[in-house]
Amino acid sequence: MNAIEVSGLTKSYGAVHAVRGIDLTIKTGEIFALLGPNGAGKTTTVEILEGFRTRDAGDVRVLGFDPHDEGSAARQWRNRIGIVLQSTSDSGDLTVIETIEHFSGYYSNPRNVDEVINSVGLSEKSGSLIRKLSGGQRRRLDVALGIVGNPELLFLDEPTTGFDPEARRAFWALIERLRGDGTTILLTTHYLDEAEALADRVGVISQGEIIEVSTPTNLGGRSTAQARVSWRDGVEIKSQATDNPTSVVSKLTAQFNGEIPELTVTRPSLEDIYLKMIGVTHE
Ligand code: ATP
Repeated sequence: MNAIEVSGLTKSYGAVHAVRGIDLTIKTGEIFALLGPNGAGKTTTVEILEGFRTRDAGDVRVLGFDPHDEGSAARQWRNRIGIVLQSTSDSGDLTVIETIEHFSGYYSNPRNVDEVINSVGLSEKSGSLIRKLSGGQRRRLDVALGIVGNPELLFLDEPTTGFDPEARRAFWALIERLRGDGTTILLTTHYLDEAEALADRVGVISQGEIIEVSTPTNLGGRSTAQARVSWRDGVEIKSQATDNPTSVVSKLTAQFNGEIPELTVTRPSLEDIYLKMIGVTHE
């Protein structure tokens, strides 16, 4: 079963070809991260899937439904999805709990409001006015509003922007719990460590086209990329790229007759691979 099926999706804004023929399949229960530089077409794609933007061409099915359709079927469909948009709407004169209670009323099978507040770490701010929250706390509220309807499919557009490291880890734990409940999640993020920690598969989009879809471990040939061995030799830090780090380390062990000073063996990070794929190099 697929939660999302997209083929030949295109969208232009005047002369700007934002999305140029995207094919994408996301399985039910999968966590999928869409990665790409600013302006690559991620938000356009996601908002078409959410039914907030029209498309020029292509077939789109989200939970078996065309998001472009309207009427009572569309309302039932909306009840099954959760959305955290990139920019937040303002309801500054309500408290956190009032806002979440209000939104929970739109859904037929909402989660318990206190549990939702707790799961995004806003318990202490439950009675605070929205306009008095910090940026990161508002973002947590956005996430709370996305999950309060107990969605089968959750869209998260840069959900952790503005989170401190502790809040990000707490958010990751929340996503793991949603995964455990079988929720399908489509995430866009600029944090490669977040994609690596959460996603079953990632898709890299650049200039409106998908360049590659893979697991975070295999993207761009990462799992077979050369390792880099580095160590201290007197005052110098030396390093060597190799397909056989074990044999390099064995030779060094013999050379140093034991402990190799400041030894590290690293493989390219997801971010290294991603930057290479989108054509950014620092060497
Ligand atoms: P970011 O990482 O910055 O959020 P993105 O990958 O989500 O970027 P989009 O917002 O989908 O990118 O934008 C894709 C392209 O379409 C960009 O060139 C952008 O300027 C253009 N664009 C997006 N929305 C509109 C709009 N409403 N009107 C005109 N052009 C738009």
